Amino acid sequence: MKIILKNISMKFDDVIAVDKLNVTMEEGSLVSLLGPSGCGKSTTLFMLAGLYQPTSGQLFFGDQLVNNIPPEKREIGMVFQNYALYPHMTVLKNIMFPLKMEKVPKKIAMEKARDMASLVHIDHLLDRKPGQLSGGQQQRVAIARALVKKPKLLLLDEPLSNLDARLRLEMREEIKRIQQATGITTIFVTHDQEEALSISDKILLMKNGRFQQFSGPQDIYDHPKNEFVAQFLGNPPINLLPATLSGDRYTVQLTETGEVIQLPYPVSKEVKLNELLLVGIRPEDLYIEVDENKQGIGGKVLIVERIGRDNLVSFLIGERKVRAIVPLDASITQGQRVKFGLHPNRFHIFRET
Ligand code: ADP
Repeated sequence: MKIILKNISMKFDDVIAVDKLNVTMEEGSLVSLLGPSGCGKSTTLFMLAGLYQPTSGQLFFGDQLVNNIPPEKREIGMVFQNYALYPHMTVLKNIMFPLKMEKVPKKIAMEKARDMASLVHIDHLLDRKPGQLSGGQQQRVAIARALVKKPKLLLLDEPLSNLDARLRLEMREEIKRIQQATGITTIFVTHDQEEALSISDKILLMKNGRFQQFSGPQDIYDHPKNEFVAQFLGNPPINLLPATLSGDRYTVQLTETGEVIQLPYPVSKEVKLNELLLVGIRPEDLYIEVDENKQGIGGKVLIVERIGRDNLVSFLIGERKVRAIVPLDASITQGQRVKFGLHPNRFHIFRET
């Protein structure tokens, strides 16, 4: 089911939790709502669920305006952060519960619940109570219960945040598998950029209730629309160097050191001379080499850390710490002076906000 938010806002007294959100989520896609705590993710999810009514704007499920449709008539399944399983019921009964509420005959309900249990790989746990399950298993039960009525939309509220790192990775893959197996439109709330980048077809990034960008993981990472998006995605974080534009639009001057960076193409005409800019370069896009003659833009290496198959090198440009990911065989060591170079297409110019 296609989901359309048109100018959706939600106010709580004087707090604008969601501010004029416009997004279209395609049928069958897995969309992450991503952003820092308090940016409006849960409020958006609760409006989709029908638990909150938008203060203004229109919410469509397919062609249907659903602003006034109550949660139970929206054909949605929801998984909460704490799973909200019934502790006194067995796994099978938990999964059957939504069908029982609709008075589906017991035999059919049991059959459907077993099918769902099989889909999420918990066939062997049907007689246990939630207290006898691991976090990951409880979550599988919650997902099976959310899917048992074959909803048109699945809503997941920070579903991985209560799991340890290993289980989180496993369940992340499982959610993707189940979503692809069912083809159900799924909306997933997370504050974890890595999780969003790994699982989503599209990421909706928000800040202070406002839309920032809605793109596929690769696109949002490679083409962040502003400084906030660039900083929020990527670990280690993007390097941001304050600069101003020089006369010819092919050079920017670093504010802190006065050094000039040559750009391979001109900065957009919209940017004004002397306007404060940020040159954004991801650590993996920064080429560095030892600068024996001390002529390049760079500085002294503070620390070299091994991260997997590469080294993470931190050095100073003026007072600012800059990070670069370099191959182990680059042989860069603490205390050396290094200079950096840009890849023609792998840097960003932002206006400082
Ligand atoms: P997130 O899920 O991204 O952490 P929320 O949607 O929970 O953010 O909250 C967005 C903003 O709305 C926050 O400033 C929060 O304090 C406020 N807010 C959320 N729910 C309520 C509520 N029920 N009453 C008042 N303010 C709320």
